[in-house]
Amino acid sequence: MSVKDNLTNIKSELPEGVTLVAVSKTKPNKDIMEAYEAGQRVFGENKVQEMVQKWEDLPKDIEWHMIGHVQRNKVKYMAEFVSLIHGVDSPRLLKEINKQAKKHDRVIPCLLQIHIAEEDTKFGLDKAELHELIDSEEFKALEHIKIVGLMGMATFTDDMNQVRREFAQLKSMYDDLKTKLTDINILSMGMSGDYTVAIEEGSTMVRIGSSIFGARNYA
Ligand SMILES: *Cc1c(COP(=O)(O)O)cnc(C)c1O
Repeated sequence: MSVKDNLTNIKSELPEGVTLVAVSKTKPNKDIMEAYEAGQRVFGENKVQEMVQKWEDLPKDIEWHMIGHVQRNKVKYMAEFVSLIHGVDSPRLLKEINKQAKKHDRVIPCLLQIHIAEEDTKFGLDKAELHELIDSEEFKALEHIKIVGLMGMATFTDDMNQVRREFAQLKSMYDDLKTKLTDINILSMGMSGDYTVAIEEGSTMVRIGSSIFGARNYA
């Protein structure tokens, strides 16, 4: 199956209102261009340097999403062009994004990453930290970032009941956040292995890599 066929199949399964982020990390420009030529414009990367390089090389109407964990000292390299940062999980990172966005006279849309998985290796805020952050005066003063939703990754397991429970938990935090902030309209959950469940549980944005581009050459 070609990138184009994979993309077409996945898109035909997505309900209206669910955005597809094609996760192109580690993949060459020619694969991205194949997806681009099939109409895809939203791509996700997890390393800032790699995303910057691709942004420089590829058509400028691509929307680049940073889906990985972001180090504060790398924010400056992507502040000019990044469309959405999915993995924001600390006030310090948010402040740095705000600072760099200001230099470019932009407001950068961000998702707060929530820890929903069982494994403690995954990044993210818990419920208490989320509320502490959004209730803080410091947060309210940030004019160059906009929180537009939440992102989460479920436990890596075959137990789809567990995955479903974790997504449902994130959805309920998302619904709650909507009552507290305006402009909340993105719930980023679901990858190649679990996006069907994620959509059933209310995802509005899925991040799909290997089902489009094939397996990556690392674990
Ligand atoms: C790599 C990655 C994905 C895509 O994973 P696939 O299983 O290849 O679809 C989604 N989200 C994040 C945060 C990732 O790092």
